[in-house]
Amino acid sequence: MVNVPNIELNDGNKMPVVGFGLWKVSNDTCAEQVYNAIKTGYRLFDGACDYGNEVECGQGVARAIKEGIVKREELFLVSKLWNSFHDADQVEPITKKQLADWGIDYFDLYLIHFPISLEYVSPETRYPPGWYYDGESEVRHGKTSLESTWKAMEGLKKSGLAKSIGVSNYSGALLLDMFTYAEIKPATLQIEHHPYFVQPNLIKLAEQHKIAVTAYSSFGPLSFIECDMKVAEDTPTLLEHDIIKKAAEKHGKTPAQVLLRWATQRGLSVIPKSNSPKRLAENLDVTSFDLTSDEISQISDLDRGLKFNVPTNYGIPIYV
Ligand code: NAD
Repeated sequence: MVNVPNIELNDGNKMPVVGFGLWKVSNDTCAEQVYNAIKTGYRLFDGACDYGNEVECGQGVARAIKEGIVKREELFLVSKLWNSFHDADQVEPITKKQLADWGIDYFDLYLIHFPISLEYVSPETRYPPGWYYDGESEVRHGKTSLESTWKAMEGLKKSGLAKSIGVSNYSGALLLDMFTYAEIKPATLQIEHHPYFVQPNLIKLAEQHKIAVTAYSSFGPLSFIECDMKVAEDTPTLLEHDIIKKAAEKHGKTPAQVLLRWATQRGLSVIPKSNSPKRLAENLDVTSFDLTSDEISQISDLDRGLKFNVPTNYGIPIYV
């Protein structure tokens, strides 16, 4: 089994460098996939309220623990606070609901999913609530500042419901603002990161403040083709790119492994998603070889500032 290294977070907790991303993992197969991923050697699972599969994730975890394959303390379970639960008095109740869905009593890491507050929708009305107040098209902004949400997140760490806390989809400006009020700095920043969207200065800022960066959508357009996004369909796939393919051939690895190694070798963690057992194993083996510094720079030079995960598509103008 592949030995995945840990990185030490700024609060002393240790996080595996490679994990399994749970977005778009279907409810039918999720429990089995999580169970199989644990058997393959995955220890970090990146979930969220919004992915709508936390019950099934928990079932996969419970089965692996029951069969003695892994202990709870060997796993690193991540979840995220959805936008409509940003009100300070909603943070703890929804975290407890999410923990109950997973069947666990703490998250190893809990993140603010997006830096935007939407109006509260009760879990009884619809769960997960998604982007729209009415479940169809109506955007209702909330009235909660990110500062008050973060204070409530700090409460989760203090009460032990989350061992570490962090943020996702934050810009440099939001991080700098956060440093003026955070009593506890975020342990991690999870961002879209692939050769078409590198964000070197955001990563540098995070590093300066000892915030570990996790890359999502490491294969660039591939994940968004599944969402029928035209710009993703029109963008050349990274797995077929000459520079990536050449490095893969040289190192006897696959293009996917080169893309993941490009991130891990630069100190980032990765959370690829795959439904295939072969790729699952392949994606875990991304720390055992080194790209040359030339290969790293050539891949970084593919940067086009092209972000695929833009909530503007849902009528939410966060990055405009
Ligand atoms: P990803 O970059 O992991 O790509 C998934 C796609 O790549 C799938 O089509 C899969 O079949 C394919 N793939 C996976 N391994 C492969 C391999 N070895 N060879 C060839 N193809 C392969 O995409 P993602 O799901 O967008 O991102 C990963 C995870 O990041 C998500 O599951 C989720 O946990 C997290 N995420 C977080 C946010 C956020 O807002 N915080 C947003 C998007 C994703």
